[in-house]
Amino acid sequence: MAVERRAYFGVISVNDEIVHAQWDRVRGRLRDEFGEAAFKSWLNPLSLAEIKNGQVRIGVPTRFLRDWVATHYGDRIRSLWSKENAAISAIDIIVVPTAATTPAVSRTTRPAHPILANSAAISVPTPESPGMEEIGASLDPRYTFDNFVVGKPNEFAYAAARRVADSDTVSFNPLFLYGGVGLGKTHLMHAVAWHIRERNPSRSVLYLSAEKFMYRFVRALRYQDTMAFKEQFRSVDVLMIDDVQFIGGKDSTQEEFFHTFNSLMDQGRQIIISADKSPSDLQGMEERLRSRLGCGLVADIHATTYELRLGIIAAKAEQMNATVPPKVAEFLAHKIQSNVRELEGALNRVVAHATLVGRDITLESTQDVLHDLLRANDRRITIEEIQKRVAEHFNIRIADMHSARRARQVARPRQVAMYLAKQLTSRSLPEIGRKFGGRDHTTVMHAVKKIEELRGQDSSFAEDIELLRRMLEN
Ligand code: ADP
Ligand code: MG
Repeated sequence: MAVERRAYFGVISVNDEIVHAQWDRVRGRLRDEFGEAAFKSWLNPLSLAEIKNGQVRIGVPTRFLRDWVATHYGDRIRSLWSKENAAISAIDIIVVPTAATTPAVSRTTRPAHPILANSAAISVPTPESPGMEEIGASLDPRYTFDNFVVGKPNEFAYAAARRVADSDTVSFNPLFLYGGVGLGKTHLMHAVAWHIRERNPSRSVLYLSAEKFMYRFVRALRYQDTMAFKEQFRSVDVLMIDDVQFIGGKDSTQEEFFHTFNSLMDQGRQIIISADKSPSDLQGMEERLRSRLGCGLVADIHATTYELRLGIIAAKAEQMNATVPPKVAEFLAHKIQSNVRELEGALNRVVAHATLVGRDITLESTQDVLHDLLRANDRRITIEEIQKRVAEHFNIRIADMHSARRARQVARPRQVAMYLAKQLTSRSLPEIGRKFGGRDHTTVMHAVKKIEELRGQDSSFAEDIELLRRMLEN
């Protein structure tokens, strides 16, 4: 919880120091949670426009950005604001055209944008009506099973989620999903909720983050309304709590959660939990809770593989109706390995750019658009890496980079590797020769010439080399 709290009523000047400090913290949290790439693409352009009657108005330069931010980040921005400033209960994202494409972010230069009278706005209100909607969070319509790409790293979690969603009786209880950030935990949980609601609308499904659970609990305490709180939570058929690690170290919330959990388990209701770690690795959790969390089915989602990333790119490209050439897809799958969210963010940027400038997506445009993101991983390239990548690419053994074999299928890749070593490192010809099984510098020189020649003759070979170069050149 923020230390600095101040409630506001009526109109607040956005030049207010404290409001700006709060906004800066909200931005900081968004950056931490969604990552640098997503932040730069979607959230950095946001500007604080006005605060009025408990509502924060946030300006974005385009309609496209407004829709995107509202659906993807609206809820999160609102909840971060409410935490910073107790008087805020809703946000409003509006289009505020700016002269400059990059908004001024420094406090002193940030202009207070005039609000256009006819600006179309999308509201993300706090659900205040009674009933299930009030305590739960809304579900993202895109997070369905159909839109979930299954691969080795997530097939077990997917199968478990499917099973729970498909059965009318309680199968595994609780289902505990865990994995690193941006790997699809929330997506799977929403998918389960959608599926159950569709199959059996009479079953009440409640999905919310652990953070929201805490917020509701604290609020119930404050308003001395804990009975209603308990009742609400203990009357659902399916309870899903996302990111349960959040209540680590928050003792009274944990206590309440423990009781809610036990009560539902005793009644034979389904519980689904997600976290960034396995139950036994959760920090600041009481032992009894940890052991209960792990007593059902525990399924982890592993880091993505190259194949899964390719599959995800293909699926998302299709959804966006974008033509992404195979080379570009391979390039992205090689380069952006951190998580699916980053990968999606990168692809969105590439597609948005192509749409805006009205040109096809190419390897060049992709590299341009993602320049900052790719440079963030900047590092020195070694000859060993080049050998490894090239060997992988042409499906030969690394040992063949050093061997004396002269068969074309190993000699050519070896020449490619020498050529790239010359291009991408500052090593001299004799040094490179030594790394390739003690070959003479004239052999390296010959390889460089040969590859240059082939590049000129065969455009698909040239593209291959280009792809390898870009992959290596972080
Ligand atoms: P987590 O909750 O694990 O941090 P999310 O479920 O929010 O991750 O996933 C981040 C983004 O990546 C979402 O937009 C989600 O739709 C997408 N995503 C993750 N895994 C997959 C997948 N296997 N197939 C399709 N999209 C995925
Ligand atoms: Mg999540």
